[in-house]
Amino acid sequence: MSLEIEIVPILSDNYVYLARETVSGKVLCVDPGEAAPVLARAEELGWDIDTILITHHHGDHVAGVKTLKAATGATVIGPGGDSQDIPGLDQSVADGDTVSFGSETFKVIGVYGHTSGHITYFAETDQALFSGDALFSVGCGRFFEGTAADMWPGLLKLRELPDASRVYCGHEYTATNVAFAVSIDADNAELHRYAGIVAMLRSEEMPTVPANLGLEKKINPFLRADDPTFAEKHGYQGQEGVTFLAHIRAGKDSF
Ligand SMILES: [Zn+2]
Repeated sequence: MSLEIEIVPILSDNYVYLARETVSGKVLCVDPGEAAPVLARAEELGWDIDTILITHHHGDHVAGVKTLKAATGATVIGPGGDSQDIPGLDQSVADGDTVSFGSETFKVIGVYGHTSGHITYFAETDQALFSGDALFSVGCGRFFEGTAADMWPGLLKLRELPDASRVYCGHEYTATNVAFAVSIDADNAELHRYAGIVAMLRSEEMPTVPANLGLEKKINPFLRADDPTFAEKHGYQGQEGVTFLAHIRAGKDSF
């Protein structure tokens, strides 16, 4: 593993991540929606934040950037193509770009729809995906600035990543996501098994992240919108994945 990753819970259910690249000792922070808890945790760990990675413009992901940048002198990297400016942005990146960080390389993968320019970061050596509000465990982000047609190609790109990949998402939404998934995919045995693990973790107020991408490919309904058997159960046989995805998202929005 080239990254040592720390979860910093903030606000009601957001996760900020601190990641130390073990060869260079460089530290990055993903989506600081608040500065104080992040600075406190970094100080406890003795970590100096060098870089801030941003997935999208929402306040609960960027509100701490200015203070954190002023306190640490970190370089802010984020999507140039989002619908609103990212505060303090030093370097714009887009789908297909790479970001070098010590011995690690992050691949930038655009997953649009939650916001118009939302990006995710995949650490190629460590196989960690910082997915922001694009992909959650057993869920995906609401389509605030796009449609299923915007989101589906991005989800397909994430699905191509290795099964061993660990997913570090922007919120602890897993328990409600699992409840919805069970309601539409009741005979998925792996989903039921995961539901038990999630219930146990949450009863002890433990995070459900990182999620395992290989398991997500089997139980996350939003990654399975082109699964013919699953689609057929809902009357979407022979339809495009994007059409069934829109149906699943609408169901979750009113769940
Ligand atoms: Zn968001």
